[in-house]
Amino acid sequence: MKIVFATNNQNKLKEVRALLPTLEILSLQDINCFEEIEETKTTLEGNAKLKADYISNNYGYDCFADDTGLEVEALDGKPGVYSARYAGEPANAEKNIQKLLSEMKEEKNRIAKFRTVIALNLNKHQYLFEGVCKGHITQQKQGEKGFGYDPIFVPNGFTKSFAEMSMDAKGAISHRGKAIQELITFLNTI
Ligand code: IMP
Repeated sequence: MKIVFATNNQNKLKEVRALLPTLEILSLQDINCFEEIEETKTTLEGNAKLKADYISNNYGYDCFADDTGLEVEALDGKPGVYSARYAGEPANAEKNIQKLLSEMKEEKNRIAKFRTVIALNLNKHQYLFEGVCKGHITQQKQGEKGFGYDPIFVPNGFTKSFAEMSMDAKGAISHRGKAIQELITFLNTI
């Protein structure tokens, strides 16, 4: 079965292909979609649906799209849906990390969670899946692996940040890993 994962993020593609080895997962590049799909909605659900709909409507493929946000308790859930461009345009992971660390400088409550929403468009129906990974924000960067906010997020029950874990170890407990597991369970029932 061929399905498009509506992302240009090579890290995410790698993570998701590793989690879904039985499916042929096409990237946007694979279907010659080179335009930027703007994430204009104010919720993760809204943006995931928007991206999946764009591909299904314009390219005719079954498709899934994800949107992820880092929700920090002491910042009332920020950066949330605005995680990618938290420090402004153009999106820059290092600047986002530095902004977040500086806003959290004096903060004792470091509770945070990653939340991923996946919208799946399959056979003219739409389905939503969610994965949450709870943890805390570190005082400084730890590790070199992964991407985005990985160096400053330690999942509950661990002392290593996501950026200090292998891709497989992260995938087993991560927000996206959990959302993908929900997706896999669903795909296995049809
Ligand atoms: P997106 O909208 O899902 O691409 O992600 C929004 C923001 O969250 C981007 O800044 C990503 O780098 C970041 N992000 C998404 N997933 C992860 C993750 O697994 N680890 C760290 N940062 C992530």
